[in-house]
Amino acid sequence: MSEQEVDFSKRLVRPNVLTVRPYKPGKPIEEVQRELGLTDIVKLASNENPLGASKKAVEAIRRAADSVYLYPDGGSFRLKEAVAERLGAPLGNVLTGSGSCELIELIGKVLLAEGDEVIFAEPSFIMYRIVAAACNAKIVAVPLKDYELDLDAMADAVTERTKVVYIANPNNPTGVLIGQAEIDRFMGRVTDNTVVVMDEAYYEYNVDGTFPDTMKFLRAGRNIAILRTCSKIYGLAGLRIGYGVGPSWLVDAIDRIRRPFHVNRLAQIAAVAAFSDDEHIKMTLETNEAGKEYLYRAFAEMGLEYVPTETNFILVDVGQDSDRLYDELLRRGVIVRPMAPWGYKTKLRVTIGTQRQNERFIAALKQVLA
Ligand SMILES: *Cc1c(COP(=O)(O)O)cnc(C)c1O
Repeated sequence: MSEQEVDFSKRLVRPNVLTVRPYKPGKPIEEVQRELGLTDIVKLASNENPLGASKKAVEAIRRAADSVYLYPDGGSFRLKEAVAERLGAPLGNVLTGSGSCELIELIGKVLLAEGDEVIFAEPSFIMYRIVAAACNAKIVAVPLKDYELDLDAMADAVTERTKVVYIANPNNPTGVLIGQAEIDRFMGRVTDNTVVVMDEAYYEYNVDGTFPDTMKFLRAGRNIAILRTCSKIYGLAGLRIGYGVGPSWLVDAIDRIRRPFHVNRLAQIAAVAAFSDDEHIKMTLETNEAGKEYLYRAFAEMGLEYVPTETNFILVDVGQDSDRLYDELLRRGVIVRPMAPWGYKTKLRVTIGTQRQNERFIAALKQVLA
């Protein structure tokens, strides 16, 4: 930027906006191909489904492709019906969004006035900080306790000015799931002057039935929003579909200020199809469980510490500068996520891939560490 541009930025942009570092997503495959001239690239950086999208969803998109000249249903009616059925909630409580990121943002936008407080864990999903800054809210970041959300400390941090608490459960980038007892205790301490946002993006990856029931709080009339996404297990990250439930007053507020056609036409159609693709979900979970075991064993053999996960990614300590390691892996065609921006200088976050992808990653990692 020129001096004048910097000056404009300083004078005209709201100061809070400039406190946010631009979000650095996992590097796209196309970019690595272009920059390094590689062809066979494995991307394990953004927790996408390594098996791809649900075939049923892809087929539905093909059938609907000719209709993209029409605006989508602005109210996402069919999609909302499918969500209501899935989550066992009345239609009036259902939220849909262009990715759950949009719902995280819209909840902030309708609730946060200048000076209101927002609580979230650190490190956690970056989106919470982005939204808080964009809304000029006061950020209260509560450190994790051994990779786990410290819900007691988060409850301690609530004041009369706390409008929103964002909770990623399981947490990203650590993969740890908080259980029912802790959630119950937390909800018992927070009043309904605060909206609790449960971001359950990895809900489906919990296979032992220990995922805490948060829907019961909504049914009891509490001010809680529960968010899920089609970006992870359903393999539809590129379409941007998030959904969830919240109190009807919150749904009403969001409907007033959201963009009129925020969930695109193909996204609505594909999500409904993906929800009914039990086979795809089953295969994805099998692949994830097998991949998890393989990577755990490989890390243990290499003497690398990792955080046991309830998701489709693993936080692993590589014992040296993870930015350098990331570059070296990239050169070998493997894209992962270096965790220095999250404060973990020697850790990587790696998405659990197919067996072949996991083997590629481990082979490259062994080379780089040797
Ligand atoms: C991946 C992820 C999401 C999903 O975001 P979308 O906008 O739905 O793609 C939300 N929250 C967390 C914690 C995530 O890791």
